[in-house]
Amino acid sequence: MTDAGAPERADELRRLIEYHNERYYADDAPEISDADYDALMRELRVLEDAHPELITADSPTRQVGAGALSAAFAPVTHRVPMTSLDNSMDVSELTAWGDRVARGLGTAAAGFVCELKIDGLAMSLRYEHGRFVQAATRGDGRVGEDVTANVATIGALPKRLRKGAPEVLEVRGEVYMPITSFDALNERVEALGQPRFANPRNAAAGSLRQKNPAITAERELSFWSYQLGEVVGGPDFTSHHETLQFLAEMGFPVNPEIREVQDLTTVYDYCAQWQEHRHDLGYEIDGVVIKVDDLAQRELLGFTSRAPRWAIAFKFPPEERTTLLRDIQISVGRTGRTTPFAVLEPVFVGGSTVQMATLHNEDQVRAKDVRPGDTVIVHKAGDVIPEVVGPILSLRPEGSEPWQFPKLCPCPLRTELVRVPGEADTRCVEPACPFQRDQRIIYFASRGAMDIEGLGERTVFQLSDAGLVVDPADIYSLTAAQLLGLEGFAKISADKLLAAIEGSKERPLPRLLTALGVKGLGPSASDALSRKFGSLDAILAANEAALATTDGVGPTIAASIVRWYAIDVNQRFVDKLRDAGVDFGRVEISHVSPTLAGRAVVVTGTLSRYSREEAEAAIKDRGGKSPGSVSAKTYAVVVGAEPGASKLTKATSLGVPILGEDAFEQLLVTGELPPVAEEPDAPADG
Ligand code: NAD
Repeated sequence: MTDAGAPERADELRRLIEYHNERYYADDAPEISDADYDALMRELRVLEDAHPELITADSPTRQVGAGALSAAFAPVTHRVPMTSLDNSMDVSELTAWGDRVARGLGTAAAGFVCELKIDGLAMSLRYEHGRFVQAATRGDGRVGEDVTANVATIGALPKRLRKGAPEVLEVRGEVYMPITSFDALNERVEALGQPRFANPRNAAAGSLRQKNPAITAERELSFWSYQLGEVVGGPDFTSHHETLQFLAEMGFPVNPEIREVQDLTTVYDYCAQWQEHRHDLGYEIDGVVIKVDDLAQRELLGFTSRAPRWAIAFKFPPEERTTLLRDIQISVGRTGRTTPFAVLEPVFVGGSTVQMATLHNEDQVRAKDVRPGDTVIVHKAGDVIPEVVGPILSLRPEGSEPWQFPKLCPCPLRTELVRVPGEADTRCVEPACPFQRDQRIIYFASRGAMDIEGLGERTVFQLSDAGLVVDPADIYSLTAAQLLGLEGFAKISADKLLAAIEGSKERPLPRLLTALGVKGLGPSASDALSRKFGSLDAILAANEAALATTDGVGPTIAASIVRWYAIDVNQRFVDKLRDAGVDFGRVEISHVSPTLAGRAVVVTGTLSRYSREEAEAAIKDRGGKSPGSVSAKTYAVVVGAEPGASKLTKATSLGVPILGEDAFEQLLVTGELPPVAEEPDAPADG
């Protein structure tokens, strides 16, 4: 930025920030994510630091919250102002704050208190002679809104204080919506055909600003206290932790994770621990708040115009961003199942750049009503797959129409797609569809099937585009000369791939059987059939009854195998594998590939093809773990009949993928979560 452009940019940033403050604080309907808002604030702060002459008294960097208060609620003047917090985004900024504190005090701080930064709304509660008399929002820090009737519905708050309460006691804390309440609320609004709330914070804010307190009561809000406001006739305190103890004694909820620590190194550990475990809680946090513990030291440090110098927020990296939905396209899986997915303007969220996100199926797109051209909220927590939460309706371009599911397969054959009434999926039923074919080859080569190193998606597309492979067996006729003709292949890489392909001929029978891609035939049934029949030829020659009486197989898979092998193309495919020298009779059961190394997969409910013990053993055999509860680290949750409701709710709120039994079998084989290309609980076509 040249100096010449700085005044204009500062003006523009202030206008933008004021606009978004209004949407966030007054309307409870933000149009940009917190991370995007924080970036605007930062830019303005940097600009003002470099050009102090541009600072204005009413700059958002000097103010708390939003200017305008809602006319629906009476104003309340705070006797002790309610402030905001300064932010730090990483350890170096936290260290810089520690240095400023030490410089301000002329000595190190005597100790700190680390608290979770609850993602809700600041609230001031006033008690007189032990009775609850008023609740007020933060507003601009000096004047807030009277929301007494609404806050009175919050069950976690004491309406009368325990004996010995001061004459006047003002308690500050955060009103928040627990995740279970948030999920239940969204279920209710969805059933009424209304748009979902984007996150618990917005839902909590909207719930508090209801004119009818009965609605607030239904929303099941809760509260954590963390600070005193005005106190008349109370005890004297010398430290922050004593005030928290006092709040707990008076009957206020005080968060159990609050810790007193002596030095900044322990502060960093606390921040790192909660950044990792933020989703293990039943409510949302967006960071940690670090406060100087000694009240005399706080007095010395004082306040800036908007925040205390004795406290700092450590903000976690964002898990939610807004971005442009450029397009909605569909992909075709190996089974012909089509999956709509969002093509996004790339956005950095949850630790990586996201440019695509699955939209699952036609009904999901309709329920979310996302349309190309919309600005959408994208959510991604850690390793889990990104999710498009929904559109920001106020930013929808004029004339936009609901998205229509395409009628034709996007492959060059342009076959008409079919959606069977009563089913969620829309399918391409053309056996020659080149998109399905590519996915079948990718599956054939994947880790838990023929495990061919170097034959991933990219190479398969190259081979297919060059017309070198039509079914998976064609890979066994590839030559070095053909590979060298492809972009990115040199002698060494071509030889390596050919050696890997050659090596795959010796894979154990269960892997070969799985790799065929027969509908419903996953690793466990393949193991059982291999043990009983001993060779691929014997399995394919067996009649349906013989197959069905195999332990762990049953009539559905048996019928599926017979149907599959009755098709000419499939018989030719098996013949080609035999001619290529693929071993049809290597019955080693034990060498499964570590497709789930280090991954936690939770199983809940009753599966049809596995007992609980077998499912867990299958996960462990592949290097994974199968814990009894869901956390942010859970890779996927496998759901059978009558699943545990708490596991499902937690998985949904954390965005952990939920898989059906077929998808589970695919997961065992490939180790991959549902790619955008296909929802894995698709039954594999024969
Ligand atoms: P803040 O949320 O960064 O920090 C201050 C607030 O933290 C306090 O007022 C309090 O409510 C809360 N808090 C939670 N736990 C606490 C604890 N243990 N101790 C003390 N305070 C605790 O700052 P802010 O001024 O409330 O709001 C600014 C933030 O709001 C922005 O950083 C952004 O994330 C969000 N915002 C977003 C938009 C948008 O358009 N998306 C607009 C305005 C503000």
